Amino acid sequence: MSTDFDHIVIGAGISGLGAAHFARRAGHRTLVLEASDRIGGCLNSYHFPELGSFWTEAGGHTCFNSYGNLLSILDDLGLTSRVQAKQKVGYLLWRQGQRESIRSALHLWEAARSIPRIFRARKDGRSVADYYSEVLGQRNYQDLLRHAFQAVICQPADDYPAEALFRRKPRRKDVIKAFTFAEGLSAIPQAIAAQPEIEVRTGQRVSEIRRADQGFQLQLAEQTLACNHLTLAVPPDVAHALIPEGFEEARAAIADIGVAPIETLVLVFRNGEIGVKPIAGLIAVEDAFYSAVSRDFLPDPRYRGFAFHFRPGALNEEARIERACLALGTTPRHIVAQARVTNRLPALKRGHGTRIAQLDAALAGTPLGITGNWFLGVSIEDALTRSRSECERRFRHIM
Ligand SMILES: Cc1cc2nc3c(=O)[nH]c(=O)nc-3n(C[C@H](O)[C@H](O)[C@H](O)COP(=O)(O)OP(=O)(O)OC[C@H]3O[C@@H](n4cnc5c(N)ncnc54)[C@H](O)[C@@H]3O)c2cc1C
Repeated sequence: MSTDFDHIVIGAGISGLGAAHFARRAGHRTLVLEASDRIGGCLNSYHFPELGSFWTEAGGHTCFNSYGNLLSILDDLGLTSRVQAKQKVGYLLWRQGQRESIRSALHLWEAARSIPRIFRARKDGRSVADYYSEVLGQRNYQDLLRHAFQAVICQPADDYPAEALFRRKPRRKDVIKAFTFAEGLSAIPQAIAAQPEIEVRTGQRVSEIRRADQGFQLQLAEQTLACNHLTLAVPPDVAHALIPEGFEEARAAIADIGVAPIETLVLVFRNGEIGVKPIAGLIAVEDAFYSAVSRDFLPDPRYRGFAFHFRPGALNEEARIERACLALGTTPRHIVAQARVTNRLPALKRGHGTRIAQLDAALAGTPLGITGNWFLGVSIEDALTRSRSECERRFRHIM
């Protein structure tokens, strides 16, 4: 078979671009195909051209010095010296129409009694509710932690696998603990995609994949492309639909991994027109939105921006704006710009590790790689760790 490309990646989120970058390190050129008209997926520093250079994160917002694979990519791209420290601002709770401190929901005595259990409690195979109720106490879990976790993953957290949240990783001491970039986290996908060995085509939705000789044939709206190595870097439902014939066991392993849609409302106000001091964001307790993340960590002299992550279908448009403004102590007439974005995150369940072990057994020895934020966990680093290991499995010589 004559192949058009050595390696094709489907999906230009951080998992797919990371896979292209690791393949480049191993000496493979890559074509990345992205369905939407924008690269970055959940990394989306939303720019408002009418407000000059102002942006607000509509998805991922923070990287940490424990993100070793990410930092190695930033080193390659010369970006490590450009990281920006995030200003220290805290989260508030939004409970029953009031903004409250996090401490107000913490049961200190219960936490002090429970916390020694953290040294012997195991996370493996347990749900978030089960594990964190043990190590911080039932009441702390019910009144605070479950809402904080829901705020992070923007979906119900009780049944989420405990091992997929907050994996401990070594920190790189020469890098600021929590960071972003002056132009937001979208700087990362942009820089990866700008490398000459990586070609990215947007507006290219892959609808079907067929096995062809030793490689693959990909069906797009107007053409068919062929490649030797293929990496799927798409959400689990899309991967399930695209996995080609001949990989039935792989497809069966991931059949019931769900996806949680998140309806994000981005609002911008003029500085001084909001009744809330600078905050990192709001953690909502049983409200229509799970969380709000602010741009206050990188203050702008003119504007303040907020991304409210709503439960799908909760409230109509007008009511969402009213609710967000109420939570910020302002009114809709002060909004200077707004945008709507749909994010999607995997809805993992206990027993996830077994599904992934079955998938990996089915992929072993094949040129098909599958990566994403639905293997080790949802963080940027978890996604890149999977992308790297899928490249190592097939290309081996990653520098
Ligand atoms: C609101 C929010 C806040 C977050 N905050 C943080 C944070 O602060 N720190 C952190 O570490 N992580 C954070 N995360 C998690 C992290 O941002 C994501 O898990 C990660 O960016 C996902 O990357 P991905 O490439 O795996 O998936 P995605 O970003 O979803 O990318 C998948 C890509 O595949 C494309 N695609 C889908 N179907 C097709 C097809 N058929 N053909 C071609 N392309 C297709 C999609 O358009 C998309 O671009 C956050 C996530 C969200 C939603």
